[in-house]
Amino acid sequence: MKRTVIIILILSLVLSMFTVNVFAAETSAPVYLKLSSNSCGADGTIKLTSSAGFSRIYIEWVGIPGRWTLKADGNETACGINGFQHEYVELPKDVTEAEFFMPEGGKIYSVSAFPKDGRPLPEYIEIWEPQPERADVLVIATHPDDDILFLGGAIATLAAKKGWTVEVAHLMGYFNKTPVREHERMHGLWALGVKQYPQTGRFDAAHEGYRLYSGEWKGFFAITEFVTELIRRFKPQIVITQDLGGEYGHIRHQRLAAAVADAVEKSMYPDFCPASAQQYGTWDVKKTYLHLYSKNKIVLDLRQPLEDLGGKTALQAAKDAYKKHVSQQSGWFYVTDDPNDPRADEINAAYFGLYRSTVGYDTGNDMTENIVSYAEQEHIAKGKELVKSALESKAGKVFEFIKSKQEGGNGI
Ligand SMILES: [Zn+2]
Repeated sequence: MKRTVIIILILSLVLSMFTVNVFAAETSAPVYLKLSSNSCGADGTIKLTSSAGFSRIYIEWVGIPGRWTLKADGNETACGINGFQHEYVELPKDVTEAEFFMPEGGKIYSVSAFPKDGRPLPEYIEIWEPQPERADVLVIATHPDDDILFLGGAIATLAAKKGWTVEVAHLMGYFNKTPVREHERMHGLWALGVKQYPQTGRFDAAHEGYRLYSGEWKGFFAITEFVTELIRRFKPQIVITQDLGGEYGHIRHQRLAAAVADAVEKSMYPDFCPASAQQYGTWDVKKTYLHLYSKNKIVLDLRQPLEDLGGKTALQAAKDAYKKHVSQQSGWFYVTDDPNDPRADEINAAYFGLYRSTVGYDTGNDMTENIVSYAEQEHIAKGKELVKSALESKAGKVFEFIKSKQEGGNGI
């Protein structure tokens, strides 16, 4: 099934040899591209040509390509450094030919290229930032689309806050099952305004049905280990995850929420999941929110226009992002914040509860209450440093003045 999908996509690209998307006039339009191949041959190259000229290149790979090199106009650009499956590369000036050099077997899923014409790129072009060393917010979802359906409003709201970093991680990885869901995962998060590259799930969805219950994944504890590692690695101030009841009773959602609840209570102890403690150090999350949690409830306002999303609301952004999960549109699922929705108790994206806090309870419906973003903390620290050095310098000048007066022997 997955091979068929890939082959169809590759064939359609090879056959068309052109990108056919049509965009609004104000954004740059892609040039017509000709690919020498979609998968890397024995010589390790794929050639990209267009007589129209291009310099802004956006590639979606079939898998994570590893390190690769883009050669154009006699220059080499090192790419694949951040392990992105969707990567944007910009050349200094337009070229008519570029070559990809990479390990044999690298496969392009789709590619678009644009000239340097001064116009902005279409919104669908994803220009990811590397995963942060520490994220203000870590969102952990089970499957790609749970992040959108249940946590998407919260993600869009937080990602739109100036200077806040939002890292999203999934439990399940789809490279071996339905690889298109890995693409949809990123398209969805990009549509929510997330900029930090998301973390792919460690658990192979191809075996989801049974391995979670078997010894192979050490029962459910393997999920707790994974979640604990994420917490220690990204050092979040806020963690957001799904419902202990599994939203509509989904067992894997339940297990994830239980694992997160367990991990945030113990991630500060070095003897709990010691391997990740040794690798990243321990970490104590300040605030942990669970979807639909029955205590310390908050109701997010997802209907405020967000400047970062061009005036779109978080609710609309989540609805639009869910459409990016094309393979999942046949189900009953939808995004809602309506308290009167018949499924509000199972899926309402505005309903959360503060499960654990080291900084006090909320007094409003704002997840960031009592939290200062890392960027703001750095800003404040720099400000203090400046004041300190200014005071020191002033004190130094006063001292020098007094000293000079004393040395001048003016009888002071
Ligand atoms: Zn799910």
